[in-house]
Amino acid sequence: MSSHQEFLGTIGGAVKMNAGAYGKEMKDIVYSTKYIDYDGNINEINLKEHNFEYRKSIFSSKKYIILETTLRLKKGIKAEIENKIKEYQTSRIEKQPLDKPSAGSTFKRGEDYITSKLIDECGLKGKQIGGAKVSDKHAGFIVNENNATSNDIIELIEYVKDEVYRKTGKKIELELQIVGER
Ligand SMILES: Cc1cc2nc3c(=O)[nH]c(=O)nc-3n(C[C@H](O)[C@H](O)[C@H](O)COP(=O)(O)OP(=O)(O)OC[C@H]3O[C@@H](n4cnc5c(N)ncnc54)[C@H](O)[C@@H]3O)c2cc1C
Repeated sequence: MSSHQEFLGTIGGAVKMNAGAYGKEMKDIVYSTKYIDYDGNINEINLKEHNFEYRKSIFSSKKYIILETTLRLKKGIKAEIENKIKEYQTSRIEKQPLDKPSAGSTFKRGEDYITSKLIDECGLKGKQIGGAKVSDKHAGFIVNENNATSNDIIELIEYVKDEVYRKTGKKIELELQIVGER
């Protein structure tokens, strides 16, 4: 993402990850999904069959290809919807480091704690390894400050996890998916 002007995401990624924010998730609006299975067959599943959980769905364990999704949306008033979008966008721009490249929220929300608050309380805001940095603006984001390599990011993730565990006894979990080899 080169600037906050570009918010690019796909419906396949959003369904697989059960993407969500501000108290709503894909599971609240998905009606059905068509996908291709390992044998090349096209199947369709209903909402329940998605096995949606926090940032998880059936597509997290089965690497099927999502072709299309039908959403069930509530009818609203155009101006009110536009205002809500603006409100959410403004809130994100204010709170998140959208001017720097990142993969979004690094860690999952905790059951009984706010992960970014915990990281902040451990004094980790601004911690940098190579080009990767815990954002000064929002401790839940690791940003590419200066030509970070994937190694820098992974090392910083491990450092943050270890420090939070050492200082609070909480085991924070990764929301990002790491693909490939180091
Ligand atoms: C600045 C920033 C803020 C973010 N904020 C949020 C947030 O508030 N809430 C949230 O939930 N997420 C957030 N994200 C994470 C992520 O961008 C979203 O979850 C997004 O919806 C994922 O869609 P994508 O197209 O980017 O998918 P990708 O990241 O490209 O893919 C996600 C996963 O889905 C798989 N996938 C993609 N397409 C298909 C398909 N057609 N069939 C099967 N599998 C597929 C990929 O292989 C991958 O495993 C944020 C990311 C950034 C960079």
